[in-house]
Amino acid sequence: MYSSCRANVDTPFGPEPMNERKTILILGGTGEARQLAGRLVALGHDVTSSLAGRTATPRLPAGKVRIGGFGGAEGLAAFLRAGGFTLLIDATHPFAARISANAVAASAEAGVPLIRLERPAWVAPAGTAWIEVDTIAEAARALPDGARALLTIGRQEIGAFAGRTDCHFIARVIDVPDDVPLGWEIVATRGPFSVAGETELMATRGITHLVSKNSGGDQAAAKLEAAAALGVKVVMVRRPILPEAETVAGIEEVLNGFR
Ligand code: NAP
Repeated sequence: MYSSCRANVDTPFGPEPMNERKTILILGGTGEARQLAGRLVALGHDVTSSLAGRTATPRLPAGKVRIGGFGGAEGLAAFLRAGGFTLLIDATHPFAARISANAVAASAEAGVPLIRLERPAWVAPAGTAWIEVDTIAEAARALPDGARALLTIGRQEIGAFAGRTDCHFIARVIDVPDDVPLGWEIVATRGPFSVAGETELMATRGITHLVSKNSGGDQAAAKLEAAAALGVKVVMVRRPILPEAETVAGIEEVLNGFR
């Protein structure tokens, strides 16, 4: 529980009165962060979502939004103090390790409680071929000669595969990268994706390997189901290890803390 007071909670009889309005900073950039902002705004809290500014046209959450870095942990701590925030929620992507570490340090420095919302990692379905690696560079080395690989790792790190001219690449990204290696196909689109759509993408391109970060969650899981059905091998990048923080696995668990 984040305070001793009850928040405004939906009941079969309508919303209960909210005794304490919190001023919340959500570190976002994920679907969960956006949904959580909507739920907390609907409960009457004063919510600001922070985005890094990586995508050209981000889907914006309800409430206030600020975009761009804070200038490290000190900058984030100063922002928390200046805004009078009473709760910090780190709902960033599991691979956004720097901002999550900054959140831990800034929370301690500013004396603002921190909750990390971290969706559970995917586990290999029984009988499927997963190669687990620790880094994107390792994923690039793990592909066999002649592989036809679908990269679903975002656009920032695709350069790690540029040297594998013995393989064919299809990179799925939100925004088209500035430098696309010769011969690559770029599929610029945004999820969520269906199993049927993922199956069609992999089947029509003759994909042999799917390269993915272990993001977890339902929104991006269709590709794993499609890969398993088609016999496409998965090269899965393990999550970075983050400094310890109070962690919950889903939006409902965050909201439970207000009840
Ligand atoms: P990162 O490496 O952990 O962070 C690098 C720097 O970007 C941080 O030190 C911080 O700058 C700034 N930053 C990151 N997230 C921020 C946020 N929500 N609000 C304000 N500043 C932020 O992060 P990343 O891996 O580049 O990811 C950037 C954003 O994209 C994150 O918000 C994440 O949720 C989202 N995202 C990432 C991935 C992924 O695979 N990494 C996938 C989907 C979405 P300062 O130090 O100056 O504050």
